[in-house]
Amino acid sequence: MKPTKLTPLLLACLLGLGTELSAQSGSKKDEKVKLPDIPGYQTLKGDFHMHTVFSDGHVWPSFRLYEADRDGLDAISITEHIDYEGYPDEIRKDYNKSHQIATESAAKTNVLVIQGVEISPRVTPYHHNALFVKDANKLPADYMKDGKKKFVMKDSPTEKQLLAPFWEARKQGAFIFYNHPNYRWWDKDRYGLDLFSDLHRKMLEEGLLHGVEVVNSGIYNLEAHRMGEKYNLTMLANSDEHRDISYTYRHSHRPMTLVFVKERSEEGIREALQERRTAVYFDDYLVGREKEMDAFFKASLEVKAVKSTQRNVEPVIQIHMQNNSDIPYEVVCQSDLDFKNLPLGRVTLQPHETTTLTLTTLWQELPEVPLRFEVHNVLISPEKALVSELRVKVME
Ligand SMILES: [Zn+2]
Ligand SMILES: [Zn+2]
Repeated sequence: MKPTKLTPLLLACLLGLGTELSAQSGSKKDEKVKLPDIPGYQTLKGDFHMHTVFSDGHVWPSFRLYEADRDGLDAISITEHIDYEGYPDEIRKDYNKSHQIATESAAKTNVLVIQGVEISPRVTPYHHNALFVKDANKLPADYMKDGKKKFVMKDSPTEKQLLAPFWEARKQGAFIFYNHPNYRWWDKDRYGLDLFSDLHRKMLEEGLLHGVEVVNSGIYNLEAHRMGEKYNLTMLANSDEHRDISYTYRHSHRPMTLVFVKERSEEGIREALQERRTAVYFDDYLVGREKEMDAFFKASLEVKAVKSTQRNVEPVIQIHMQNNSDIPYEVVCQSDLDFKNLPLGRVTLQPHETTTLTLTTLWQELPEVPLRFEVHNVLISPEKALVSELRVKVME
């Protein structure tokens, strides 16, 4: 959404100069973004919404692979608008083509490429991505009057026309999610209406809707989060990048959908998305469901409790918390014992550092200490931060 200056790199792409993928790509991807696996599942980093010159983007598909590889992603999907052509004079209409080019580029990387498309009418049900489609050219966009360099819909598209691409996507076994559900400016007359319309309810019942983008273009969408919770949808965070992603996220990492998979494959991702085992990662925030978020927080930490003394007499317990993830956890600590010098229990567990907390007022021998952390940048609901409880054995 943000206007971007034409950088030399972007210019090079537009001019078709191409980009080289790094020789070592794929070898140590985990060094780039450090996030833990959770018990029973591997954590994959995905971005399932982006565009290239094959619809309204400004880069070549191989460039998306270059970016994804550099950003340490495990999976991407290039989701061209099936109802818009940005360069009809230069590029032949073929909505499978950008996926094919991306797949060829992916061979030099460790990034999985999932075929996807964006179905983007400007009226209800608005934009959705369909992942795991097999032939994008088969999705009909008959609600359009003209999609060449402009976006003109028919005056009164029928529900049948609007739903036709969804039915075809479902026939091809797609996983479908609602993109950026608050772009009301397309449809000014509908201000104030429920963005989860009757048509969405119908789509949900018919198996045409499975997820929702809680973060798009790096922006957290409260309504989408509420929607995800209310309708039990898979939650996703995607870039929806049209230009050069390194400039857009020059102050942070790109938004990512964390997918907790049983196996690192396209099938593994599909299974996890269907079972809603995802989390949304943007800036220093995580949004997910309690079970996965509690496991993720615990898997990020190595916690040790060591008995010690202060002023050579007063027994204390020192809690050493090593945070092995990239996320600075902002916590409020609680315990039956008192934390020394920690007003309101507030502390940030800095990434890749050990934070030491001291528990005092120890009147009896304790084999283990119960600890409770409210983690303010991990949301398990639109109004609720994660509360994680652990019991740590005390070492002499
Ligand atoms: Zn677009
Ligand atoms: Zn869109």
